[in-house]
Amino acid sequence: MAPGRGPRRSNITELVPRRARRPMALNLMLMGPPGAGKGTQARRLARGFRVPHIATGDILREAVEMNSPLGRAAAAIMDAGQLVGDEIVIGIVRDRLQRPDAATGFVLDGFPRTVPQAEALDAMLDRRNPLVVIDIAVEDAEIIRRLSKRRVCAACGTIVGAAEETPPSECPDCGGALVQRRDDQESVVRERLSVYRQRTAPLIDYYRNRPTFRSVDGSLTEDEVAAAVADAAHGGSAVRRTA
Ligand code: AMP
Repeated sequence: MAPGRGPRRSNITELVPRRARRPMALNLMLMGPPGAGKGTQARRLARGFRVPHIATGDILREAVEMNSPLGRAAAAIMDAGQLVGDEIVIGIVRDRLQRPDAATGFVLDGFPRTVPQAEALDAMLDRRNPLVVIDIAVEDAEIIRRLSKRRVCAACGTIVGAAEETPPSECPDCGGALVQRRDDQESVVRERLSVYRQRTAPLIDYYRNRPTFRSVDGSLTEDEVAAAVADAAHGGSAVRRTA
């Protein structure tokens, strides 16, 4: 079937009618390499659809910050740009999806990252609406350029800097201090990219043939990507599939 035609479009449209005053449940997963803009877009979508933004990287960083047993187990792995074990992250997401605020939907960011994680997610979502998967595609050179400039607000988590020549030092939203993630140093970014290509990119093939899969061009500006991602979540036309 040609991309973007027939059941592919109508399935998502049924899920989230464009003119609905209150959006219906949306089970959305954003995937893409580090620095593709998943976090920024996920925050926007979660606000728009009034569903929780569930980012395994944020949950793990909080655990590291709190020096909990989970944080102590994950810290060195994250600093090396490697993936935390499947069982650990699957457990985190299973618990999080059972909380009441996720009953009417969620935006997943950074999970799944391996095929076993995707299989576990399918099993968890057995009785829910179909998972909408949006892949945000960006070239490696652009990723490295963006991540060297990315800063994150230590207070509210806002992500800034990717589009600026010199990242600002204060958060535009809350005035908090902007910091560089430890794993945004170039050597770690290269490792994360290689892990992404080897372990996470195969998920594109895992999801590609589902009627609720879309790929958007992540090299555009944040607002352009947001429009394409929102359109993809609604099953609209400003979307292309990767080959
Ligand atoms: P992120 O903020 O999504 O880039 O995640 C930061 C780091 O957390 C990753 O480089 C991994 O070390 C770890 N991490 C986050 N999500 C997962 C996941 N689904 N599976 C394994 N490791 C993860």
